[in-house]
Amino acid sequence: MKLFLKKKMRWIFPAAVFLAALSARPALAQSIRVVATWPSLADITKQIGKDLVNVESLATGVEDPHGVPVKPSFVPRLNRANVIVLTGLDDEHSWLPALLEVASNPKIMPGQPGYIDCSAGIPVVEAPARLDRAEGDLHPKGNPHYLLDPVRAKTVAQNIAAGLTRNFPQHQAVFERNLKAYLAELDDWIGRWQKLAAPLKGVKFVEYHPEWAYFANRFGMKRVGSVEIKPGIEPTPNYLVSLVQEIKEQSAQVLLFGAQNPRLPQQIASETGIKVLRLYSSGGGRPETDSYIKWIDYTVRTIVDAVAKG
Ligand SMILES: [Zn+2]
Repeated sequence: MKLFLKKKMRWIFPAAVFLAALSARPALAQSIRVVATWPSLADITKQIGKDLVNVESLATGVEDPHGVPVKPSFVPRLNRANVIVLTGLDDEHSWLPALLEVASNPKIMPGQPGYIDCSAGIPVVEAPARLDRAEGDLHPKGNPHYLLDPVRAKTVAQNIAAGLTRNFPQHQAVFERNLKAYLAELDDWIGRWQKLAAPLKGVKFVEYHPEWAYFANRFGMKRVGSVEIKPGIEPTPNYLVSLVQEIKEQSAQVLLFGAQNPRLPQQIASETGIKVLRLYSSGGGRPETDSYIKWIDYTVRTIVDAVAKG
């Protein structure tokens, strides 16, 4: 028996040493666990944290912008997280607060250091005069879809770097260095997109859900209307008749929709000839958009191509 054990130990010991060495690799042992609500926020966090962070996104990027279906796996992920990175402005209001309650991780509750709200310092468009959720309005604090404006992504990156530093001040120098590099990269791309998007100036568009305001303001597109009567309120037949009329009168060129059912966009297209483009209001929804920069690049190129083909 003794001999047998000894023999066995000879194998177990090197294996144990090997496993211990593996788990002691600094990147694994010291990883900061980040949960982001959306893939674009996860990507920007990776750019700032690099190998200090292990980032997961809850949404995949194809979901309704305000109704991410909650999976049981979200709870343990939130429970283990060191920080959460979110859009804020009530963008995640319909699904995240309840989830945070269940996960009961005091580090990432609202107001705590691990709660990184990326909307800090964003000039909000369509902000209502008073906070009101009457009629199911999904934008009670104004339009939360600022990530579609790449200039605002610079503020997001700064907020994430500040949030990570608040929680892990020992890595401040690394976060600052990575932030500086990412801001420079964004500036390069923004310059390119401004040139590329020149044909979008004055282009009239219709959106399904009101989420293109920041993008339109950046690149000079003009909004003719939305399929939803108000954020989250589906149209009535009468409303659709007047929208179709408006599209014809103003010669709107493109209708942008994302996670919504394509039925109404296609119906409107058949009545007006407007070009319908499915573009998600978050990155990650398709392989070509798996980083923030790739997502904006894909979005700009897709609309420019559609407009060029007239
Ligand atoms: Zn919205």
